[in-house]
Amino acid sequence: MLNMALFGPPGAGKGTQSEKLIAKYGLFHISTGDMLRKEIASGSDLGKKIDEVISAGHLVSDELIMSIIRKTLAENPHEKGILFDGFPRNLSQAALLEDLFDELHLPFFGILSLDVPREELLARIVNRGKTSHRNDDNETVFEERLKEYEEKTLPVARYFEKKGKYHVVSGTGTLDEIFERLVHLIEKK
Ligand code: ADP
Repeated sequence: MLNMALFGPPGAGKGTQSEKLIAKYGLFHISTGDMLRKEIASGSDLGKKIDEVISAGHLVSDELIMSIIRKTLAENPHEKGILFDGFPRNLSQAALLEDLFDELHLPFFGILSLDVPREELLARIVNRGKTSHRNDDNETVFEERLKEYEEKTLPVARYFEKKGKYHVVSGTGTLDEIFERLVHLIEKK
């Protein structure tokens, strides 16, 4: 069983590489961002609250994220493994992830991080904003998302690094080149 999390700043390419990894390894994909956007699209009251938080570039509450993840895992088969995308995003989520795996008696391979220079991230987000129709894919909100990333999410990298569970690859080049780097990392272990 291969359980891991793709990690990196907004625009690093987590979504794209997730698709390729789940196809190759038969993993169950949990994208917290996609799940939150689905709730927004449903038009529920909860969705409206989530929309406000995401559009400001901030993080939604840990309680909400954990309840979405637990519900999704309970409802879906995931025997080959789970690929998290967009989670854990702060230190408390990192600890909650470990608790969850302990409770399920499942192993956690670790975090795979995509490293991309800041200027390229901004260019990708602005470009994606032309077609994504995401309220947060613009330069102003990007700055706030990056700030949240640096303040809250980067400590997660150090947390897993200390446990030997943090692996980084360059996230620039062609999609296939980046994918090959990830596969190499997974299979050399
Ligand atoms: P990106 O990685 O490009 O920022 P995501 O789709 O992963 O895009 O996330 C979009 C937004 O959804 C985040 O800026 C945040 O507001 C919210 N979000 C996603 N995952 C989490 C999480 N694990 N904890 C808190 N907020 C989250």
